[in-house]
Amino acid sequence: MKLDILVIAVHPDDAELGCSGTILSHIAQGKKVGIVDLTRGELGTRGTPEIRVEEAEAAGQILGLSARENLGFRDGFFRNDEEHQTALIPAIRRYRPELVITNAVTDRHPDHGRASALVVDACFYAGLRRIETTDTDGSRQEAWRPKVIYHFIQDRYIRPDLIVDITGFWPRKKESILAYRSQFFDPENSEPASYISSPEFLEFIEARAEEYGHMIGVKYGEGFTVERTVGVRSLFDLL
Ligand SMILES: [Zn+2]
Repeated sequence: MKLDILVIAVHPDDAELGCSGTILSHIAQGKKVGIVDLTRGELGTRGTPEIRVEEAEAAGQILGLSARENLGFRDGFFRNDEEHQTALIPAIRRYRPELVITNAVTDRHPDHGRASALVVDACFYAGLRRIETTDTDGSRQEAWRPKVIYHFIQDRYIRPDLIVDITGFWPRKKESILAYRSQFFDPENSEPASYISSPEFLEFIEARAEEYGHMIGVKYGEGFTVERTVGVRSLFDLL
């Protein structure tokens, strides 16, 4: 299945926290969007790998994704090396996305920056025809390189290169985040508290969206960085 946008993120819930408003807005524009989660987030303080996969499935339903899969890399211990690049290339070639969105280039959680570098390298190598891969049905895959890679901004503040207006999609973004019931604030959850399980964390997510929205004169926004220089046909294309 060919996708317009493939989001590749290291932990289930990263995509929802970082770019689910953008996912929703592009699906509303008729684009096909999917998510590849690299790990099951098994080192997270709360929940279990099984629960987190179920929660990711539920969040994907809320977003209206065309596909979602989990590559089962080891949370915390995956590396940007040949083993992991060659495991990721088949997913990029399977969905042939025009655009890839991935983790922040650097963040509080060290997995985020490492995953970001792994995704950038795998997207490049996916375009080299001499790297041969097969799909899940055993068929030989064609080389494919996405045109642009965007990095969403998750925990630590990064000055964005561009901001997507997600104003109409905020309530549904919040719903997709709360689908990860084991991770975020739930008064009935008796598991140990974590960095993200306080009510203040959800307030911070909203404040960040308001801050980025404020920068472009709308209510809510999501910020991205992009390594490729932004090109326009008209100076008026930049709002
Ligand atoms: Zn994460």
